Amino acid sequence: MKFDYLPPADQILETIGRIYRFGMTTTSGGNLSVRDDNGDIWITPAGVDKGNLRREDIVRVRGDGSVVGLHKPSSEFPFHQAIYRARPDLRAVVHAHPPALVSFSIVRRTPNVDMLPGERDICGEVGMAPYALPGSERLGANIAAVFAEGKRCAMLENHGIVVGGDTLADAYKAFETLEFCARMEIRASGLGRPRSLTEAQRTLAASAVPALPALPAPSGPMPTAEREARVRMCDFIRRSYEQRLFTSTQGTFSVKLASEAFLITPHGLDRKYMEPEDLVLIRDGAAERGKQPSRSVLLHRAIYARQPHVQSVLVAHSPYTMAFALTDVAFESKTIPEAYILLRGMPKLPFESVYASVEQTAARFTPDVPLALVDNNCVIATGSSLLNAFDRLEVAEYSAKSIVEAANLGEIVHMDDASIRDIETAFRL
Ligand SMILES: [Zn+2]
Repeated sequence: MKFDYLPPADQILETIGRIYRFGMTTTSGGNLSVRDDNGDIWITPAGVDKGNLRREDIVRVRGDGSVVGLHKPSSEFPFHQAIYRARPDLRAVVHAHPPALVSFSIVRRTPNVDMLPGERDICGEVGMAPYALPGSERLGANIAAVFAEGKRCAMLENHGIVVGGDTLADAYKAFETLEFCARMEIRASGLGRPRSLTEAQRTLAASAVPALPALPAPSGPMPTAEREARVRMCDFIRRSYEQRLFTSTQGTFSVKLASEAFLITPHGLDRKYMEPEDLVLIRDGAAERGKQPSRSVLLHRAIYARQPHVQSVLVAHSPYTMAFALTDVAFESKTIPEAYILLRGMPKLPFESVYASVEQTAARFTPDVPLALVDNNCVIATGSSLLNAFDRLEVAEYSAKSIVEAANLGEIVHMDDASIRDIETAFRL
């Protein structure tokens, strides 16, 4: 589906559904708006269940203040209007009370957007609007003042978050990314002290844009094996997104087709709406014409070249697993048999591993080391199939969650060496 083709009411409906299903708003909290070309503002209605909104429930407020629709506009319409007045360049506003961001708002802190590369580019600097009564002109003025400084994300003290964008897709992307940063920082803070990127790391990541030559136009029909791989990959990408292992723009999947050829996710496209034709074919070091592969494409290529047992590679930022990549705490898989069998040892690699010396990094992914964490960067999972790599990523995230949450209960007891040897014998590891 091409989101940008939808009219404003459908875009709002689609986006509020996405926010609600991911537990980022309650049924009564949160409102979205889109400013149309003629200045009309389309907005969610007041007092209608967010879980059951229909297209005809969306309200249009004309430039003269008259309202078209079945309901009254959201009670927080005044601050949407104040933002559009302060920022003529913005065309959409997302407001909600997602629990992780509300946690920050009630300790009056902004989430750190400098823990992973790319987050600051999406969210920008995050401002803080002083508390005021919901629905009041005062609240509108406080929020508009943050936007007038050129920011696009404003935390609201003791309330929630407001994000603006050039389009609703753009505002949603920043909203989701900031919420992801908030969740990740909360998880990591439960384990240790989360690190920020250094200036040198930020510069390295920003400059690491692989430039691959373009493949010639295909001379015949696409092989069936490639079509099947494209369809299956899209299923898994959407599933990874629904399971919140990926965010809308982060998370890379690749699958080997034949020697020297593989399919990989494109850079920057929304993972929720990924279609088979969006995936990028890489063959003999060249990329499918007119498409931009994920930034980690050279690492994927190096792993396939070096490790013939690997058929699929995933690069993700799943928030519980990332808690270990952001702190000095080691990830120990000897917690339950499932974790040890699928994850084995899980080394931590330095931040630079995905950009420089990808050959050495690829050499680490032997059959005994299917996954690795990269400091302030990502988790890399390899597998003998798409399903196997996905399974490992999911097990890593669930195991990480158990470890992070167990820390609230007491001391963790790891399986002893004899139990591990029994597992290794029984499962021929
Ligand atoms: Zn609110």
